[in-house]
Amino acid sequence: MKKSFDREIIDYGHRKFRDDEFWKEIPAWKNVTEAEFGDHMWQQKNTVRSFEQVKEILGSRLTDRVAKDLEEGLRKTPMNIRITPYVFSLINWEDAENDPLRKQFLPLGTQFLEDHPFYMEDSLAEDTDSPVPTLTHRYPDKVLFLPVSVCPVYCLYCTRSRMVGGSTEGREKTVRGNKENWPQVFEYIKNKDQVEDVVISGGDASMLSPSQLKEIGETLLDIDHVRRIRIATKAVSIFPQKFISDEKWMDALIGLKQKAKSLGKMIMVHTHFSSPNEITIWSKRAMDRLFAADIPVRNQAVLQTGVNNDPNTMIRLTRQLGYMNLQPYYVFVHDMVPGCEHLRTTLREALEIEKAVRGTTGGYHMPTFVCDLPGGGGKRHIASFEYYDEENGISVWKAPNVKPGEVFMYFDPIWKLSKEAQKRWADETTRNQMLEDAKKKVLS
Ligand code: SF4
Repeated sequence: MKKSFDREIIDYGHRKFRDDEFWKEIPAWKNVTEAEFGDHMWQQKNTVRSFEQVKEILGSRLTDRVAKDLEEGLRKTPMNIRITPYVFSLINWEDAENDPLRKQFLPLGTQFLEDHPFYMEDSLAEDTDSPVPTLTHRYPDKVLFLPVSVCPVYCLYCTRSRMVGGSTEGREKTVRGNKENWPQVFEYIKNKDQVEDVVISGGDASMLSPSQLKEIGETLLDIDHVRRIRIATKAVSIFPQKFISDEKWMDALIGLKQKAKSLGKMIMVHTHFSSPNEITIWSKRAMDRLFAADIPVRNQAVLQTGVNNDPNTMIRLTRQLGYMNLQPYYVFVHDMVPGCEHLRTTLREALEIEKAVRGTTGGYHMPTFVCDLPGGGGKRHIASFEYYDEENGISVWKAPNVKPGEVFMYFDPIWKLSKEAQKRWADETTRNQMLEDAKKKVLS
């Protein structure tokens, strides 16, 4: 009998990195040189921020059907449009409807579904567990600091769509990440001796200026009990040029790394690649630079329908990340936030994909598949639910060290359930009874 490593999926494809001038297929960029494309300033200047720009840049490659659909999608989404030329030109515009990158960053009206009845703007209850503005303190030794509310791209699946990016037609947003909050945040951390781990996120930490990155990093490193700093940025995946050509920003990052090392502390970068289509030779170059600077990078993918919810895609992603010295750390079941119902998967899909990925690479490169519990229970391994009613898509969880005594619920997308279950969800009385029954199974 053939062993699993002889299977077709292990085809060494993960060692190949796209190395062509793919951006030249975009009409507006057909004369852009490799040097220009590799320049972070060029990427920023040419970032696509409106529907008008999409039309102008793509010209005849944008079909009327997709144009109309996109315009409609932009009216429905809670996220503003923002996409780097790097990602924009990796989209297969001849099959935009099915492209895994288009699905993550550019909404099509026809693909939207009604939000789940129990979706939440702040699904992870980050605002509830916030002792001072822009800081979340949930786990005893870790805090999450959000010093900025903008990103190089806006992802449709964003868990912080309530605050990230500007207001849209359908959604008014309050600007966060005001620098005025920083002293309060630093003061809070200084006074909390238990805090050893700080995540600097947002928004996206790559949008901090080099001096802001330095100020935050050095202030935190100077606090004795802070031992680990994680810099959360999606830029490695969607804007690798940042790490290749923004020397001032890299100097600030490397400076922090050196200071941390001299103090016996750790600095890491956390990023999120969700599709192997995001990976090219530019990703490898960015990772080579970070690796040479001794900065560990970990990945947090989000499981999304039509993007990566099949075993072979997730196996390829996992192996290719590992090959670039990027640790596949987490795969998140999609949060229950607005505007994403079409992207969410069932818990069962996550369990099956986890099973398929496990064993295809070394254990330390096996991502932990987690569900970040709605209501603030924190991240739990997907198989650690207390009860799962698969027929009705209801799972019940506990988080004894985060919120003792509480139960949390995660719901599969209704459109993926049987017709009978969909009918039960449509009736409010039956729906409430299903919830009560599921809770009772755990509490009795
Ligand atoms: S980069 Fe992160 S914070 Fe920014 S839109 Fe994407 S998921 Fe949200």
